[in-house]
Amino acid sequence: MTDVLGDWKRSHACGELAAGHAGQTVTLMGWAHRRRDHGGLIFVDLRDRTGLAQCVFDPATGGGAHIRVQDVRNEFVLAVVGEVARRPAGTENPKLPTGQIEVHVRELRVLNESRPLPFQIDDEREVDELLRLQYRYLDLRRPSLYRNFAMRDQVCRAVRDYLHGHGFLEVETPILTRSTPEGARDFLVPSRLNPGAFYALPQSPQLFKQLLMVAGFERYYQIVRCFRDEDQRKDRQLEFTQIDIETSFLDRDDFLPVIEGMVAEVFRRVKGVEVARPFPRISYTEAMDRYGSDKPDLRFGLPLVDVSDLFRGGDFQAFAQVVAGGGVVKALRIPGAGGLSRKDADDLVTTAKSFGAKGLVWIKVAADGIQSPVAKFLEGIRQALLTRVDAGAGDLLLLVGDAPQAAATVLGRFRVDLAQKHGHVPSDGLSLAWVVDFPLVEWDDEAHRWNSMHHPFTAPRDEDVGLLATDPGRAQAKAYDLVLNGQEIGGGSIRIHRQDLQQRVFEMLGIAKDEARAKFGFLLDALEFGAPPMGGIAFGLDRLVAILAGEDSIREVIAFPKTQKGTDPMTEAPAPVTAVQLRELHIHVVDSTR
Ligand code: ASP
Repeated sequence: MTDVLGDWKRSHACGELAAGHAGQTVTLMGWAHRRRDHGGLIFVDLRDRTGLAQCVFDPATGGGAHIRVQDVRNEFVLAVVGEVARRPAGTENPKLPTGQIEVHVRELRVLNESRPLPFQIDDEREVDELLRLQYRYLDLRRPSLYRNFAMRDQVCRAVRDYLHGHGFLEVETPILTRSTPEGARDFLVPSRLNPGAFYALPQSPQLFKQLLMVAGFERYYQIVRCFRDEDQRKDRQLEFTQIDIETSFLDRDDFLPVIEGMVAEVFRRVKGVEVARPFPRISYTEAMDRYGSDKPDLRFGLPLVDVSDLFRGGDFQAFAQVVAGGGVVKALRIPGAGGLSRKDADDLVTTAKSFGAKGLVWIKVAADGIQSPVAKFLEGIRQALLTRVDAGAGDLLLLVGDAPQAAATVLGRFRVDLAQKHGHVPSDGLSLAWVVDFPLVEWDDEAHRWNSMHHPFTAPRDEDVGLLATDPGRAQAKAYDLVLNGQEIGGGSIRIHRQDLQQRVFEMLGIAKDEARAKFGFLLDALEFGAPPMGGIAFGLDRLVAILAGEDSIREVIAFPKTQKGTDPMTEAPAPVTAVQLRELHIHVVDSTR
């Protein structure tokens, strides 16, 4: 039997009680986190969003409450009135912020009961994820998850305060719109009022934010949901949140410091750390070359080293041929990893192949020489190689010979994995860096055409405009990504703001005039009405918060995320709809799986 709240008012939060409250009478409300019956005294840890307070029910001082609490089970909703007291010496709990005190309960009201739980509410999350998501509202009762959302809120507030202070306006853009250009698959929404026509959900507000610049708003931002119907590989969600920003009249070198200020404000408020500015910048070419990644983790060194010259015309035929054919041989040194077993070394070769490498050469460096399946071919260059990569006893060297990008990418993945495994990543390390000077386009071998590296509205460097007609692959873009500890947290570009240049870029990308008109005609029109120079960026909010919160998955910082299959086990979305609804939408469902 439950009670009503009546005239009781909560006086304190559970987590705020401290020794200084001893002697005060308090009214607390929350959930029965745990109940322990010591045969006489009954203890209940009462939990609200601020923490736990130990409540003691003593038959001698709170008779009625003591009788009632015997029926209380985990997650019942309780209100208690009692007196705060210091815990008897020796029973304090230093692990609990309120561990100095307890509340001697005089009165109890049971505000609601709870069914037995599908899983325990504690910070062990070893529960099947489907079950966690099916009962997400219980899962979210875990204090560590609540802290993630408090942090998410703090990040958003820091962003809003900073941008507001710098003259930005938060503007909402449509969710029901047309296809936008990020290149993923669109979510489509049928229009009841326009039979056969569909809205697309925005993959980002890209075109709208550019139009707001044409409108003269000058500084826009929005914390906005974006939708991409992608296969749920990796840690992606079908809907995710961006901090989306656009400005006018700033070129890259004026714009990036504004954004650095925002990121610094987030770190200051959320982590209490002052990040060094300006953030270092690294060119795309250098990032690929030295770290084999366009989002290099710079918390540790271990750069890739080009050792092609040592193998040119040498005894080791496989590499000599690669170099003769215009490829490269790259080396990666992992200090202290040379103790691996033959099986581990062979596993590395298998992994390299799964990364797309044709092969991998490993070399274990010991005090008395080297060990490697190809050691006998290396004799002539052994010393030069070890000196070049600065290797010493106990190190592991990995070598890949291939086209420059392919060799670097494979070793880049090992660099991250093995640095992690062998303790070369400082746990409190923090590295923010801009990757700049991206190529404007990349060649798509299958489709036989150029694709934008960023999106087709990205401006080429002024001095590279001529290359659009002659050698587009060499043109660099005014694009930039912000990388935090090896993860891309934001990316953007200075845009093309002149219609003629936009048209030329479309042509170079093989987007025919009528296709460009049909897809982006409204933008092309707008560019003819005095569009100002503009540029912007978008941050993945979910990823940013996950990194700040130390979570591996963005699902831990999204209140109601979807599974890898894009389903929500709680609401059971997506779900079939009635024939009547389909008819209204002029839709006939066919089973294409048959
Ligand atoms: N719209 C881009 C994206 O979502 C970001 C930008 O260029 O501002 O990746």
